[in-house]
Amino acid sequence: MTFRIPIISDQGTSAYLHGRSNCGIHGFMTQTLSTRTVCCKLSLDADAAAALQATAEAFNAAATYCASVAWEERITNKNTLHHIVYVPTRVQYGLGAQLACCARDKAAEAVRAVRAHGSDTCPTFKPDSAIRYDARTYRLMSLDRVSLNTLTGRVMGQLVLGDFQRRYLYDTSWKIGGAELVQRDRQFFLHITQTKANPAPDEPTGFLGVDFGIVNLAADSDGETYSGEDVKRVRERRFRHRQRLQKANTRRARWRLRKNARREARFQRDANHCISKKLVAKAKTERKALALEELSHIRKRTDNGCRRSQRRLRTSWAFRQLRSFVTYKAQQAGVLVIAVDPHNTSRTCAVCGHCEKANRPNQAHFRCLSCGHTAAADTNAAVNIAFRAARQTAYGAAPPLGGGASTSPTASALGI
Ligand SMILES: [Zn+2]
Repeated sequence: MTFRIPIISDQGTSAYLHGRSNCGIHGFMTQTLSTRTVCCKLSLDADAAAALQATAEAFNAAATYCASVAWEERITNKNTLHHIVYVPTRVQYGLGAQLACCARDKAAEAVRAVRAHGSDTCPTFKPDSAIRYDARTYRLMSLDRVSLNTLTGRVMGQLVLGDFQRRYLYDTSWKIGGAELVQRDRQFFLHITQTKANPAPDEPTGFLGVDFGIVNLAADSDGETYSGEDVKRVRERRFRHRQRLQKANTRRARWRLRKNARREARFQRDANHCISKKLVAKAKTERKALALEELSHIRKRTDNGCRRSQRRLRTSWAFRQLRSFVTYKAQQAGVLVIAVDPHNTSRTCAVCGHCEKANRPNQAHFRCLSCGHTAAADTNAAVNIAFRAARQTAYGAAPPLGGGASTSPTASALGI
């Protein structure tokens, strides 16, 4: 039994997550909805399973057709696409009116996501790919039953729920939305989407800057660091193991590698949940806004600016995931999140504002060549991130970098 961890998509392009965010901008993120997906196993009789199988084939053939039209005609608007594909979808693929609209939406969103990614291949869908259901094409009934549209009318299924899923599904503070019917190993699963309005963020009394780094996965502007050494040790050990397996390149080694990749992903996800939870709890208790580096910079900074040996550590950690966990947990807790441009934050002195590459003699240490200020490199960067957040918002005075920052009201609010 699997459960998809609730995530707010930062970019709104994920297959399961309906991003409704407008982040990536300077200043405040005013995302108002959280989305999560509950994955439920579906028990069906043979007839219902066959009907859903046939529906999935027709649905995905129709979606592939819609995508090819949208791709060739360069249409991104669902209404425009609707006028062209609606009749062919119904006639050629035998879909009902509502499923035809769902196929069109799935296609339009996939095309948009692929284009945003800069790819030049039109998306296609396999016959056993997911069917999308909306409020008109599926219904949750009493006793964990569910009714689903097919080519030949509605079929009934039984959701097989664990305690965890039941608790999530029957939590009425979350509103039930659409669903995706997914097939895996001849078993159907229904992935049900839920949404909830986020509380209005608290008025912050200061800023907690966060730097994502190599020495520590995260460091905040108070000087606290988040799981560096143990995580690093585990990863080093696994990296060497992976190298040995890659060298061996036997069938069993390849199987082991695939298994390890999944284990590594779980390990990273767990660590990211722990770190993001701690950061958000701290910001909430101290009534501070969280200042994070902009999403677009996360990958960029990993590619250059660090040595080869460290690049491996930096690129292979799921920093985007960590950032998105921090963001959604913050929004659910009513903590304001501010995205800042992290350019030069690791080279600039947090006390006097002097910016020079040589300020950072190595990865771990910062020593200002102008005023002699020394600090852990990632703490110094986190303080700079907090300053930038203070400068670009209405809260707190704007300390001019280059002098007097340590005595400004913002600096004292930051506890520096
Ligand atoms: Zn300095």
